[in-house]
Amino acid sequence: MTKEQPGPLRDLAERMREAEQSAGRAGGYCWLEHPSGHGHCTKSPHTNRQHMDYYTGRTSHEDTHGLVWVE
Ligand SMILES: [Zn+2]
Repeated sequence: MTKEQPGPLRDLAERMREAEQSAGRAGGYCWLEHPSGHGHCTKSPHTNRQHMDYYTGRTSHEDTHGLVWVE
């Protein structure tokens, strides 16, 4: 029986982030992280520099998109 040693919190956070990123990429998203760390680009992989998170930052149901940023 092998037991994984718990690493420092930073390692755990990093591992969770990697898992989250691969999940997003597997879902067919660009998934670039927003500079604030809140949200990821939910557009299909693209070559222009404008990224958008449809689900984060919306203030009402009428909003068609949430965060938009360029990098
Ligand atoms: Zn993007």
